[in-house]
Amino acid sequence: MLLVSACLIGLNTKYSGENNLITGLLRLAGAKELVPVCPEQLGGLSTPRTPAEIRGGTGPEVLAGLARVITAEGIDVTLEFVRGAESVLYLARILGVRGAILKERSPSCGVKQIYDGTYSRILRPGLGVTTALLKSHGILVISEEDYCELGLPEGMEK
Ligand code: SF4
Repeated sequence: MLLVSACLIGLNTKYSGENNLITGLLRLAGAKELVPVCPEQLGGLSTPRTPAEIRGGTGPEVLAGLARVITAEGIDVTLEFVRGAESVLYLARILGVRGAILKERSPSCGVKQIYDGTYSRILRPGLGVTTALLKSHGILVISEEDYCELGLPEGMEK
């Protein structure tokens, strides 16, 4: 069983009310149990919602209280992002998942890159808040781009 960002399998959880469907993941859903999660919804944010970016760091700094998540309208949604990450970690634990496939570049789900907090489409290396929390608890996380390029890594295959 694997967690997957809900938007990647066609659920309209994205801030805009749309999705980021990756058809290859739908095919994977035929062979493995995929549990869709949207940390931003689980944290209490509505859909559609104003987009947010991490200001002053990346996911680990948010969890350490050293950076904040701020919407494009200047609202601090750090609490919602952390709550959502904790909800996903809770699900990962009670379900005993083997890992997670999360959406690259999202402030929650990003695996290698996120936007830099200036709303100018500039990327920086780093993890989203949920990815950071899962990885800090030893849960394997890859992005949909990793999956499309390389398939499932050892440890997530069974
Ligand atoms: Fe998709 Fe993650 Fe954003 Fe939810 S928080 S819409 S699952 S990228």
